Amino acid sequence: MNPIAAPIRERYLQTLDTIARAAHSVGRAPESVRLVVVTKTQPLEVVRAAMEAGAITLGENYPEEGVMKIQSLSQFSAVEWHMIGHVQSRKAQLVAENFNFLHSLDSLKLATRLDRFCAQAGRILPVLLEFNVGGEESKFGWQADDESRWSALLAQVSAVIALPNVQVRGLMTMPPLGSTADSSRPFFQKLKRLQAYFSSQFPQTNFSELSMGTSGDYQTAVQEGATLVRIGTAIVGARQYNVEV
Ligand SMILES: *Cc1c(COP(=O)(O)O)cnc(C)c1O
Repeated sequence: MNPIAAPIRERYLQTLDTIARAAHSVGRAPESVRLVVVTKTQPLEVVRAAMEAGAITLGENYPEEGVMKIQSLSQFSAVEWHMIGHVQSRKAQLVAENFNFLHSLDSLKLATRLDRFCAQAGRILPVLLEFNVGGEESKFGWQADDESRWSALLAQVSAVIALPNVQVRGLMTMPPLGSTADSSRPFFQKLKRLQAYFSSQFPQTNFSELSMGTSGDYQTAVQEGATLVRIGTAIVGARQYNVEV
């Protein structure tokens, strides 16, 4: 048996257990939280070990790397592949044709291109709108740190909603770099308020998904309402840059 499989399986199961306990601590059903196992930079054998442990939702950050894995592991047809990293417009076609879900939609330009490629491929892509609620200049996502200016986002969000082949399902955020489990909490709470704001402004659209929380702060995120947590290092270990996948 593959020697990396046992520790990955153990950490995967431990993580599910921790999610369940965090959910129970605030009266939520553990099934309302989906675990996305983030396998960016990890070789195929690691991804395979995660699948064998039971992972059914995998997260990738780089379109080419993700597509290579999707094609190599196509026999695992029950698995969903989620794109969670920033997508350059010129990579829209790769994402539209290969991924099951996009967490990181961060511009109308990208949305428009995805919509066109989805139409050509006869697919509908579920997406989350990524917001930067932490106020850092360098981060991706629509700027949404200043709550008094949220109405300025409505025109763009409305334009994304109008696209027929990308289907808005909710919101995503990454807290500022260096955040801790505690310092992330206000950002998760702010994303939840933004979700409520959009839900009231666009009652016909389903904003029910909240993608927030990574290895360092997913318990906090679950307590604050995450429906998708994106966890890499806590399950598959440190990232393996420069690896031949
Ligand atoms: C890499 C990454 C993660 C996973 O981070 P870990 O700290 O390894 O759990 C989650 N979300 C995004 C957007 C990422 O790029």
